[in-house]
Amino acid sequence: MKFEDSFKHKGLRKKLVEEIKNKGIEDERVLDAIGKVPRHLFMDSSFLEFAYIDKAFPIGSGQTISQPFTVAFQTQLLEINKGDKVLEVGTGSGYQSCVLMEMGAKVYTIERQKPLYLKAKTLLSDLGYKARQISYGDGYKGLPAWAPFDRIIVTAGAVEIPESLIQQLKPGGILVIPLGRDTQVMKRIRKTAGDIHIEEEHGSFRFVPMLGDKANDR
Ligand code: SAM
Repeated sequence: MKFEDSFKHKGLRKKLVEEIKNKGIEDERVLDAIGKVPRHLFMDSSFLEFAYIDKAFPIGSGQTISQPFTVAFQTQLLEINKGDKVLEVGTGSGYQSCVLMEMGAKVYTIERQKPLYLKAKTLLSDLGYKARQISYGDGYKGLPAWAPFDRIIVTAGAVEIPESLIQQLKPGGILVIPLGRDTQVMKRIRKTAGDIHIEEEHGSFRFVPMLGDKANDR
């Protein structure tokens, strides 16, 4: 069966949720969402047995599906409310998008690698997840046509905070972005009503780097 989600998968997922809870994820809504999304369906079949291990894995085009703890950590920092309009930069496998949709977010996501964009678009539709928009392009520029957003999450390491993303955030909105070249500091930026940005740091992570122009696309 192509999209089988067996008792075994569900059992492994439950254990994964316990594991990330023990690692410090407290938001029950985030844990519930991680418990619902069948991560094994977002990975190549050769990696199926690793789907419920708390690790990042290759998804093709030199990219990875993020570690479940990292997905949960970034999602928790976003403080998602049901109905929030969320922009995700770096669709990758589409897994993070589905976690956000399970929490009731309206998801707009953009991916810079065409093969991954095409694969995620098909997969989400096959699984019945309805993202508001799945785009192919440079997420550094955001998605101005659909702005402003309540929340923005960047899932690749950026060397600077893109001004375009700050501009596309609503007052009161939150941007979560890993910042740095080799390793990244997880930054949470709150945009206040007076257009002031309050930055917080939330530990060190290692992400694939955010890519620039489309010159190397296959
Ligand atoms: N969120 C993804 C998931 O759930 O599978 C994992 C993201 S992976 C760690 C980072 C992704 O960001 C890769 O798919 C990469 O191609 C994408 N990316 C890198 N630079 C980008 C850019 N400028 N705009 C959009 N996506 C970008």
